[in-house]
Amino acid sequence: MSFRRGWAAVVAAVALGGFLVVPDGGLAQVLWQVGCGWFAAGVIVVGVRLRRPGLPAMWWLLAAGVAGNASGILVEYLLSHLADDPPFPSWADAAYLSLYPAAAVGLLLLIRRRTAHRDLSSLVDAAILTTGIGLLAWVFLIKPAASDPSIGLFGHIVSVAYPVGDIALLAMTARLLLSGGARNTSFRLLGAALLCFLAGDGAWAVINQMVWEAGPMAGKILADVFLAGYLLFGAAALHPSVRTLTRTVAPRSARPSRRLLLMLTVVSLLAPALLIWQAVRHQVDDALAIALGCILLFLLVVTRMSQLITQLDEQTEKIHELAVTDELTGLPNRRAWNTELPRTIERVRRTGDPLAVAIIDIDHFKHFNDAYGHLAGDRLLKEAAAAWQEQLRTADHMARFGGEEFVVMLPAASSAQAREIVDRMRLATPGGQSFSAGVAVWDGAETADALVARADAALYAAKDAGRDRVHEAAHELALKFLD
Ligand code: GH3
Ligand code: MG
Ligand code: MG
Repeated sequence: MSFRRGWAAVVAAVALGGFLVVPDGGLAQVLWQVGCGWFAAGVIVVGVRLRRPGLPAMWWLLAAGVAGNASGILVEYLLSHLADDPPFPSWADAAYLSLYPAAAVGLLLLIRRRTAHRDLSSLVDAAILTTGIGLLAWVFLIKPAASDPSIGLFGHIVSVAYPVGDIALLAMTARLLLSGGARNTSFRLLGAALLCFLAGDGAWAVINQMVWEAGPMAGKILADVFLAGYLLFGAAALHPSVRTLTRTVAPRSARPSRRLLLMLTVVSLLAPALLIWQAVRHQVDDALAIALGCILLFLLVVTRMSQLITQLDEQTEKIHELAVTDELTGLPNRRAWNTELPRTIERVRRTGDPLAVAIIDIDHFKHFNDAYGHLAGDRLLKEAAAAWQEQLRTADHMARFGGEEFVVMLPAASSAQAREIVDRMRLATPGGQSFSAGVAVWDGAETADALVARADAALYAAKDAGRDRVHEAAHELALKFLD
């Protein structure tokens, strides 16, 4: 059996559309809903058997939860026909409620499987959403249910269990939707199923708060939302993409999208908005709960902020690293050299140590490229940089100046020592190649540019003298004299 979109649409249309025309208030209506739930649970079982998804335990839990939830409708109907005054809480509530822990645990397993790495930012985002909406639920649903004197302790526990179950489901849904992992059709169907239940329960809570009775059609449409939720769970399990639902994907960037940011803002403002509303009505009943909610929200937002700052620091460091590194050889690049040399000159000006600078240019590199190709040329540059580096002392500093030209800073080296080191480098050049180099020792007064210009002039002299050698620069005065 394969998943056919057309058939799925027909089944959904018959199940949801049919329910709207089934006569109100009778056994047929009850059986229709229970039938949809059991059918969906059956589809989940078939899906697990057929598709063999990762994490079958999650689907068994969902199937049990859906079947249990749907059975609640039948139990409630039977109980209300057995007694004039049906008890509350009853076995119907146990059946209805069974979906919440089943779905919450199932989703928790799924989230853990899909996010192999720690994904703290989506955890914090989900916590912000849950806190903001949880506060509303506390004020409008949980507290009133807990303080209704007519239902007894067990009744309190059960009526509080509904909104608490919704909050748990909301937390898991938010975490699932915000964290990484495959976003395939099965994922979207599962998300839609969860949103149906959350929206249905939310609408139910709003209707219960309202003074006027919702009409029978409103009630039917609302019941249809839950039936759609059942069917969507079934479709999520049966769709072939359910096999890859558990696949982990790298976490999304910690940076929230504008839409998410807007949502987090709105949800965070729910708490103070609630306080303003109560203050305007001169009936501030929930100051403590709202204050605690605000504290939690502030802490979460600050946590989120510090995560973003950490991410920004890491990125800045990475960008700086890229800006001063030569990609091919991994050496510092010319930009790094241009900041490092003046700094070193300032240091030796204070300490009085000597400082030598060398410019290296590979001989006839154009020929090498022509003979062996550009890629081989690249490889040679890389290998040469590594080979030369081995001849340097730890205090020395080499950079790629550009093309096949390199510069070396040799602190605390006299001109003789510098020539010796650069000569060792020359002999270490790989691939049977050679280089010419010019060495200049800082004269105690000149700028970095002037020092490099003297070394460069010495390099040209070395090239002119026949290449494969190291020349020492003349002093500035002598250069001027030559001009
Ligand atoms: P000489 O310095 O001995 O006078 O001769 P040359 O052939 O080395 O001199 P020139 O400066 O004319 O040519 C340098 C060549 O280096 C030209 C260019 O193709 C090559 N080159 C520059 N950068 C790279 C690079 O990143 N990769 C490769 N493969 N070649 C490069
Ligand atoms: Mg050159
Ligand atoms: Mg060259």
